[in-house]
Amino acid sequence: MDHLKETCAAARNLLKQMPKADLGFFPTPLYKLDHLSEELGVNLYIKRDDFTGMNLFGGNKIRKLQYLIGDAAAKGCEYVFTFGATQSNHAMQTVSACRRCGLKPVLYLVAIVEPDEEDLRSNLLLDRIMGAEIHVVRMNPGEEEAEAEERSVQMAREHMKQLETQGHKCYEVPMGGASPVGSVGFIEGFVEFAEQVADMGIHPDYIFHGTGTGGTMAGLAAGKVLTGLDTEIISINVSWKDEGYPKRTQDLANESLALLGAPVSVEASRDIHTDLNYYLPGYEIPSESATEAIRLLAQTEGLFIDPVYTGKAFAGMLDHIRIGRVPQGSTVVFWHTGGATALFAEKEILGEIL
Ligand SMILES: *Cc1c(COP(=O)(O)O)cnc(C)c1O
Repeated sequence: MDHLKETCAAARNLLKQMPKADLGFFPTPLYKLDHLSEELGVNLYIKRDDFTGMNLFGGNKIRKLQYLIGDAAAKGCEYVFTFGATQSNHAMQTVSACRRCGLKPVLYLVAIVEPDEEDLRSNLLLDRIMGAEIHVVRMNPGEEEAEAEERSVQMAREHMKQLETQGHKCYEVPMGGASPVGSVGFIEGFVEFAEQVADMGIHPDYIFHGTGTGGTMAGLAAGKVLTGLDTEIISINVSWKDEGYPKRTQDLANESLALLGAPVSVEASRDIHTDLNYYLPGYEIPSESATEAIRLLAQTEGLFIDPVYTGKAFAGMLDHIRIGRVPQGSTVVFWHTGGATALFAEKEILGEIL
């Protein structure tokens, strides 16, 4: 454990070089869920990144935004552009971060689920209350989500070009904040976690979390090799990904490590474990197992997870434990990445929860 504290201190030194905006409340809590631990036969802990702040509705994107918005401010930018679905947690947290730092948020949001302008819900409502400039990009008939996302990026870049020619400096944050700078925030997240387990004297065998753009997973994997804590990270996909996803995430992790000048690297075959078995029927479409997971955590521990991300990740973790892929008696951490605003989203996103 002393060795772990030393590697964490060295990692903190590397992180100090990066421009950073202080947006959240850290460290986020890490503690044991007693009822569920007993029920499942493992030592189950939860890492409460739903409590990152800044507002009531925090989540994993705040960690990335501390470095992204820090970078935007250091570069003297005035506007921050970002992307996502209309109910994107990332977009809402970006708006919140921009407001705190005096930057102007512009969102290009793909309507995977069509919002009702007369009855706005969840994150889109919060984005509007915070006064973000919002461009809803409707999906064309037969268009794939990835194609609509790509189109939204092209539209935003045209918009940025116009602003730049008028002398306004713009900063582009990719979907989910998944860039080398953004993932540095999750290297820090993993270091924070390693410091906590060292203090608590526990040895986590597994971390489970939901993965989308991969920025969180990249940072966690990079933090793992940087600190040397040998916890296995199991990343439950919340949307379809092709076979190149682990390798791309490995490359993202290594670009983040290179920014820090860290002399270690992530290898997908050793450090990255993704699982595509729990995202169906699709992104932002509820599943029975996620709905069950939401109810289970609410009724045993009084905690909320969401139908789009954490519910599917938790369902995956429960399955790994129940079928014995995670041995009984293991110490398991569920990394709660936020997202509970989706409980107040459109019925199509929430599903039959009651
Ligand atoms: C964005 C998000 C994730 C996935 O994180 P990535 O870094 O995009 O992979 C997981 N959970 C919640 C609640 C999110 O908003």
